[in-house]
Amino acid sequence: MNNDIERVLYSQDDIKAACQRLGAQLTQDYAGKKPLVIGVLKGVIFFMTDLLREMDLMADIDFIDVSSYHGGTASSGQVTLEQDISVDIKDRDVIIVEDILDSGRTLAYLKNLLEARNPRSFKICTLLDKPEGRTVEAKADYVGFDVPNEFLVGYGLDYQEFYRNLPYVGVLKPEVYANK
Ligand code: 5GP
Ligand code: MG
Ligand code: MG
Repeated sequence: MNNDIERVLYSQDDIKAACQRLGAQLTQDYAGKKPLVIGVLKGVIFFMTDLLREMDLMADIDFIDVSSYHGGTASSGQVTLEQDISVDIKDRDVIIVEDILDSGRTLAYLKNLLEARNPRSFKICTLLDKPEGRTVEAKADYVGFDVPNEFLVGYGLDYQEFYRNLPYVGVLKPEVYANK
């Protein structure tokens, strides 16, 4: 699996430092509150667990599963809800946690879906932000890294469901796509 990686963009140490920085910021911003942290499956799983352990807060957690990619390296454009959250978010301080913000369609969809349920506040935290990928307006409140417009894998991000368990974020070798 590691042999398929052309270059590492963010090492385990880089990611750890980003989680510490974001966790400290959230701890400060949500002091005295009990935020509900909602992770967007499946790409978020590693970031969600590392970030939460850097937050010194009484936070409860839930997950939502949406899909917009259907196997390739470009978004299909259509976002569908695979599995909803299991709690009522009315009057809650909601923090959405994402692996990567690209076209913005997923976040625009989630914002529309969840804000209609009247949370007290609604903020977005993403490990990676690809500003050049944007096709609809979407902005994260907390960002780990701004990334170039390349297809990334690792630390939760997949190519055809694999490579999620790489401990770093990297770029795949072009021949990996060519062979498919
Ligand atoms: P958006 O809806 O903003 O275009 O994309 C959100 C989702 O698309 C992400 O949560 C992620 O699953 C997928 N995605 C966007 N860019 C990348 C990328 O560079 N690599 C991988 N593996 N997935 C991506
Ligand atoms: Mg995602
Ligand atoms: Mg994917």
